[in-house]
Amino acid sequence: MAGVVESREWHLAAYAPEGVPTSDHLKLRTVTLSLDADSIPDHHLIVQNIFISVDPYQRTLMSGLEDGLYFPQTKLNEVVRASTIARVIGSKDSSYREGDIILNPFGPIAEYCVIPSALHLRKVDPASELPLQEYLSSLGLPGFAAWVGIEVLGDPKPGSNVFVSAAAGGVGMFAGQLAKLKGCRVIGSTGSDEKVKLIKEEFGYDDAFNYKTETDLDAALSKYFPNGIDIYFDNVGGEMLEAVLNHVNTHARIPVCGMISQYKKIWTERQGVRNLLNMVGKEVRMEGFLVGSHLNRFGDFAKEMESYIKEGKISSKLKIYHGIESYLESLGSLFTSSNFGKVIIEVKK
Ligand code: NAP
Repeated sequence: MAGVVESREWHLAAYAPEGVPTSDHLKLRTVTLSLDADSIPDHHLIVQNIFISVDPYQRTLMSGLEDGLYFPQTKLNEVVRASTIARVIGSKDSSYREGDIILNPFGPIAEYCVIPSALHLRKVDPASELPLQEYLSSLGLPGFAAWVGIEVLGDPKPGSNVFVSAAAGGVGMFAGQLAKLKGCRVIGSTGSDEKVKLIKEEFGYDDAFNYKTETDLDAALSKYFPNGIDIYFDNVGGEMLEAVLNHVNTHARIPVCGMISQYKKIWTERQGVRNLLNMVGKEVRMEGFLVGSHLNRFGDFAKEMESYIKEGKISSKLKIYHGIESYLESLGSLFTSSNFGKVIIEVKK
C-alpha cells in the first residue's frame, strides 16, 4: 500500500487535576501518515483502529499530578492511549500481514497509527465466531480483570457471599457472573434503579442495590449480607470500601481492581478508610492487582471465557459510541453512571 492517509487523533492539551476532562484538556487534531512501506520502521506496523476501549484508568493519566505509585502521567501534546482492535494495513514484521486483526493493549486513540510490533500484541483468530468488540470486553482486559479478581485472588467456594461494586460496568458484569458460576451468592451495587434491574435480570445477580439511594451503606450491607462478606471485588474504593470492612468475615478476600470513586480528586483530598484495623481482627487479605502482571494466565482465561460465552453461560453488554470524535463524551460517561456494560468506540461511523 502506498500514498498518504489523514488520521484524527486525541491529544492532551492541558492537564485536568480534578473533575471530568473537557474539550479544554482533550483535543482532536488531524495528522497525515505515509502508507509507503519505506516509511514504516523495522518491527513496526501501520494499523487502522476499528474499535477503541474507553476505560476509567485513562482519566487517571490526565491529572498532571504524579500520583503516588499508580501510573505515570501522559505528557502534554502526546496522543492519549487505550486498548484497541486494529487492522494491519502495512507491516515491517514477517509475523504480521496486511489484513491481520490485532488486539493492542495500549495504542494511540487515533484513526490510524504506527505501532511497534512487540510481543504484547495479540492476533484475533479470523475463524472466531464472536464479534470483534468482545475482544475488548468479555475476552479482553475487562473480562480478564474480573477473572483474575474472582478466580485467581478471590478463591470462591460454593455458597461464598460475594459483593461486587460498579456491578453493571465493563468489569463488574463479568465478576458477578463468574462468581455465580462458582456457586457463590452474589450481590452487586450500582448507580441507578435501571441498572439494579439489569444486573439481576441479565447478569444473574442474586440481589442488588442502588448506592445512590441507599443513604446508609452500613445498613444496606447488613440487610444484604446477614452472614457477612467473604469476597469483596472492589471497583470503587472510598466509602463503599469502608462500609464493607465493617461486614467482612474471617479470612475474607478483597481483590482491589480499582477505586473509581476517587479518580477525579487530588490524592490528598481522597477519602481515607478509617476502619482498616478490621483487616487485622478478621485476618482479611486485601490485594491490589494489575491485569498486566497476570498475562501468563491469559490463555487459561481466554479458553474458559470463550466457552462460557459460546455456551450462553455468560452474557455481555456493550455500549457503542460511533466515530472517534465521541471519545470525550464516552470518557465522561464513565463518571456519571449514564452507561452500563462495556463502553467502546467504533472508530468508523
Ligand atoms: P465501568 O464500570 O464500565 O465504568 C465505570 C462505572 O463506575 C460507571 O459506569 C459508574 O457506574 C461507576 N462509578 C463512577 N463513578 C463512581 C463513584 N463515584 N462511585 C461509585 N461508582 C462510580 O468501568 P470498568 O472498566 O469496569 O472499571 C471498573 C474498575 O476496574 C475501575 O476502578 C477501573 O479502574 C478498574 N480496572 C482495573 C483493572 C486492573 O488491571 N486492575 C483493569 C480494568 C479496570 P455506576 O455508578 O452506575 O455503578
